[in-house]
Amino acid sequence: MQWRATKPMTSNETNTPLPTAAYFSMEIALDPAMPTYSGGLGVLAGDTLRAAADMSVRMIAVTLLHRQGYLSQTIDAEGWQHEQPVDWNIEEHCRELPQRAEVEIEGRTVHVRAWQYDVVGCEGYRLPVLLLDTDLDENADTDRALTQQLYGGDSRHRLSQEVVLGIGGVRILRSLRIDSLVQFHMNEGHAALLVLELLDERAKSLGREMFNSEDVQAVRKQCVFTTHTPVPAGHDRFGFDLVEQVLGRSDLFDMHEVFCCAGELNMTYLALNLSHYVNGVAKKHGEVSRHMLVPKDTNHHYAIDHITNGVHVATWASPSFSELFDRFLPGWREDNASLRGALAMPPNEVWQAHRAAKLRLIDEINATQDDLFDPLTFTIGFARRATAYKRANLLISDPERLHRIVEKHGPIQIVFAGKAHPHDVEGKHLIQQIVRAKNQLHPAVKLVYLENYDWELARLIVSGVDVWLNTPQPPLEASGTSGMKAAINGVPSLSILDGWWIEGCVEGTTGWAFGNAASTNPANVDRFKEDADALYDKLEQVIVPLYYTKPDQWLRIMSHAIALNGSYFNTQRMVQQYVVKAYYET
Ligand SMILES: *Cc1c(COP(=O)(O)O)cnc(C)c1O
Repeated sequence: MQWRATKPMTSNETNTPLPTAAYFSMEIALDPAMPTYSGGLGVLAGDTLRAAADMSVRMIAVTLLHRQGYLSQTIDAEGWQHEQPVDWNIEEHCRELPQRAEVEIEGRTVHVRAWQYDVVGCEGYRLPVLLLDTDLDENADTDRALTQQLYGGDSRHRLSQEVVLGIGGVRILRSLRIDSLVQFHMNEGHAALLVLELLDERAKSLGREMFNSEDVQAVRKQCVFTTHTPVPAGHDRFGFDLVEQVLGRSDLFDMHEVFCCAGELNMTYLALNLSHYVNGVAKKHGEVSRHMLVPKDTNHHYAIDHITNGVHVATWASPSFSELFDRFLPGWREDNASLRGALAMPPNEVWQAHRAAKLRLIDEINATQDDLFDPLTFTIGFARRATAYKRANLLISDPERLHRIVEKHGPIQIVFAGKAHPHDVEGKHLIQQIVRAKNQLHPAVKLVYLENYDWELARLIVSGVDVWLNTPQPPLEASGTSGMKAAINGVPSLSILDGWWIEGCVEGTTGWAFGNAASTNPANVDRFKEDADALYDKLEQVIVPLYYTKPDQWLRIMSHAIALNGSYFNTQRMVQQYVVKAYYET
């Protein structure tokens, strides 16, 4: 098929211009030593590119450099989070390109340069990523700061960053003479200003000052939008005054088919209006988005599909499982669907691989605390961004209940990790609440909150625990991906039915669901207690006794998590769906 390259991407030997997609994302996790991401969105972007490179899909990616890496977290004795920037060596990972681009911000010319990082696929294909950088002598100090920090600064700063990403990104691609692009993929709305540049480009090429409806039709055929946020507050919006000051133009808001929404520029609607294909990141999230994304005072419903997220298997398999797959499922890196064969792997080997991963995690934990974790104890993992809707405190909300479960069935250990956004005070209070629960739970239940949750730590935790817990308040989890990483390592999920788990849960076979799926009203104040009770019931009646008394049955569940979920919830399957549903159809 056309999207698979047979030649390196710079080859110009063919007469028909080969289609190529440009993937725009505010954050991308490219390498554990490059702190250019904050969490799920960036990890997904990185896993997408790693899978695309495995399959030699002709893509190029654009993001910002983020010189001061996304934060390093420490937690003090009171359980309070402190954050510091992370230094990293850009030249060690990226090479500077000689081409430059310029954008206008508040009437100033801002010079943009790009650094290139290559994502290398399992068969050697190199997929280029451009990291944009405005830290140049010729720029004013405020502009030099635009590519310093991910999600820092006020809305003026944010909008200016989005000018660099969206408009600067398209211009850099043009300065590199990458003109064969037929699809521009916006991973979340941050890059939506790229549509403005495409509209201007087209109008200018046809000798017009201002774009018109015909340009809109044409640009729409080139754009794809993936939305990730099931809450209205999660979408970037900027007041018209600010937009006028930053972009230096007021002609934009007359075209309602492009810039809808009274008094503000909403990046999500801009992307929706200019994309021929839009998707949510799980089946349920597609539905939620179709209902939620209706512009005020209109009855306009968008056609929103879904492509369920995945993870890059070779990135998230622990060393012991990689080695096991090498022995029993040759070719699994090239074709992640090979994980179906996990059902035929000897259960004892699966157990040994899990034990090795668990020992690695426990060594890491025991190096930092006195209350030693035990490899034979049932271990629950919970690590994700510390923010209210994820409800990290659900599991520890009733210590008495936990004590009773331990008395009846055996000991429990809990591993927590996760950063709060520096401005998310509620998230910081959640971390504190968990750290403080430690003494209350001791000694029946051991608890640790590991600092500085990032790619490396995620890899240790998702593979090293016995069960992966997920407790979001429905319907706020768009997809979630950490449970998919756990599944690859034979770790079953115990989760509320939300996001991907609605598709991934086969009760008692790939893991377990808890809570009342029908009660989706987030305003329901009783919901917390209801869900906590349901979680304790499931642990007490099913999971902890199963772990301690039925090892054969437990191992069958581990193998099914790999075979059913690892083989499907991966980014190779996901990228194939993007190619067929979004990129190919123009
Ligand atoms: C996978 C990952 C996430 C996203 O996990 P969710 O389950 O979607 O919350 C966040 N941070 C890191 C470091 C990750 O590896």
